[in-house]
Amino acid sequence: MKVLAILYTGGKAAQEEPKLLGTIENQLGIRPWLESLGHEFIVSDDKEGPNSVFQKNIVDADILITTPFHPGYLTADLIAKAKNLKICVTAGVGSDHIDLNAAVERKIQVLEVTGSNVVSVAEHVVMSILLLVRNYTPAHEMIERGDWQVSEVARNAYDLEGKVVGTIGAGRIGYRVLQRLLPFNCKELIYYDYAPLPAEAAKAISARRVEDLKDFVSQCDVVTVNCPLHEGTRGLINADLLKHFKKGAWLVNTARGAICDADAVAAALKSGQLRGYSGDVWNVQPAPKNHPWRTMKNPLGGGNGMVPHYSGTTLDAQARYAAGTKSILENFFENKPQEPANIIVGVGKYETKAYGQR
Ligand code: NAD
Repeated sequence: MKVLAILYTGGKAAQEEPKLLGTIENQLGIRPWLESLGHEFIVSDDKEGPNSVFQKNIVDADILITTPFHPGYLTADLIAKAKNLKICVTAGVGSDHIDLNAAVERKIQVLEVTGSNVVSVAEHVVMSILLLVRNYTPAHEMIERGDWQVSEVARNAYDLEGKVVGTIGAGRIGYRVLQRLLPFNCKELIYYDYAPLPAEAAKAISARRVEDLKDFVSQCDVVTVNCPLHEGTRGLINADLLKHFKKGAWLVNTARGAICDADAVAAALKSGQLRGYSGDVWNVQPAPKNHPWRTMKNPLGGGNGMVPHYSGTTLDAQARYAAGTKSILENFFENKPQEPANIIVGVGKYETKAYGQR
């Protein structure tokens, strides 16, 4: 079979660090195994435009592997051209780079390595909340500049204790974020999700569900976004919803950049409606040099915790999603059942309720 993988370039770092498995250099560690089974394996980071390796090879590929960190966008048009495609594997979590409705129609399966990096992301979210609330980045930058003016950074630094923290999406990541926040003695942990948590799970972290989104955001000091990107969440956090946030709230989004309206977020930070915004996901990846999220600031010159998309690609996570990708392929080649939690789209139907209410 022809296996096509779109991964990110690792460069010198990937040559020096073989644990950077999600790169074009280290190829998820599966080339020798795939070739020993007689399969053809094409790996590239070249994914944009009709002459890209991705678009040229998708037409007769049987299997597509992509990572959300550098996704090959499999649109409905490309799906129509991909005559041999049977299965798409996401090396990680989050398959919004694939037109899932078109995959259902064409009976192309879509699988993720579910759970492979949920702890990695949850830890990043907790870190991001703390660095915003405590005004960490401007304080560190002051030190690197050689300055020392405590009041300049203390004037916008708070404790997380006593604040209301809410997650949009209380699945694997959202729940783990709330779990990890328990010892901080927040005033309350709340969530917004069309799927209520099982009673025992909600009780274990004393989480309260709020059913209306505007009502939910108006109660939060900190909002963290942990739902997939789909037609019901694209642009969910826009200028209108931001008006309902508490003035000076902090917003952390490690889910997908396009869940937030980029210009509306930048304007809310500039006006002080948001005190801070942090995350690792962007509406365009790689983010252009002039993307407003790179340099946006609150009125006191801080509040920006943005980094490149890496929260879910720690070396620990890469080991898990590389192993998980191999095991999905093994099941596929040997006609064995897949782990049910990994199946986003089965043959001709959605197997998850996380990508929208259908
Ligand atoms: P999950 O499927 O366990 O949980 C997702 C939750 O979101 C579900 O409970 C679902 O009901 C809820 N949801 C869906 N639509 C919603 C909506 N409109 N409003 C409120 N809730 C909604 O998924 P997960 O493992 O927690 O991952 C969540 C997302 O995080 C992924 O889809 C991916 O986009 C993102 N992610 C990012 C990284 C990273 O490196 N930044 C890594 C992994 C995952």
